[in-house]
Amino acid sequence: MKIGVLSVQGAFAEHIDKLKGMGADCIELRQRADLEQSFDGLILPGGESTVQGKLLQELHMLTPLRDRIRQGFPVLGTCAGLILLAQKISNDDAVWFGTLPVCVRRNAYGRQLGSFHTEAEVTGIGKVPMTFIRAPYVESLIADDSEILARVDGRIVAVKYGNQIGVAFHPELDEDQRIHEMFLQMCKSKVL
Ligand code: GLN
Repeated sequence: MKIGVLSVQGAFAEHIDKLKGMGADCIELRQRADLEQSFDGLILPGGESTVQGKLLQELHMLTPLRDRIRQGFPVLGTCAGLILLAQKISNDDAVWFGTLPVCVRRNAYGRQLGSFHTEAEVTGIGKVPMTFIRAPYVESLIADDSEILARVDGRIVAVKYGNQIGVAFHPELDEDQRIHEMFLQMCKSKVL
């Protein structure tokens, strides 16, 4: 199993460490040529979605990756990665990949609650530790068949839509591996 981790900005190294610790191979996706290599799934890390989106555009990586996601390629977007996937951002005009039919709110928890740690139930997994850093949440689902995987205080913080998983928190920063395991399972089932 080889996972491509978008590595233009943000917390990509933490995802790579985690995946390697779980026995998966990783490649860093830094430029368009890196997309020529073969890999079985894509991770979009946390960071700054506007910076990442602009870099993806400048590096001509946005369109080829969007095409792959649309064709069913497994993707996990965490925090800024969720924002990149979202079809709509309620407090920003930008749309980056726009493949995940949800509306997200950026920096949604305000200044006082900029960063926090909690635990919440994730469908099919159980209670998972969750670290939020200037996080978004999902305000609404645009497609009825998007699946809500988790809520914190009533707000949607994890969703699945076919081959796409988006989480508002940073699973790469906690020791728990189950979100990554869920993603690797999805990649495996696509490869088989
Ligand atoms: N606030 C960032 C954004 O809007 C996301 C924060 C994160 O990825 N930790 O892109």
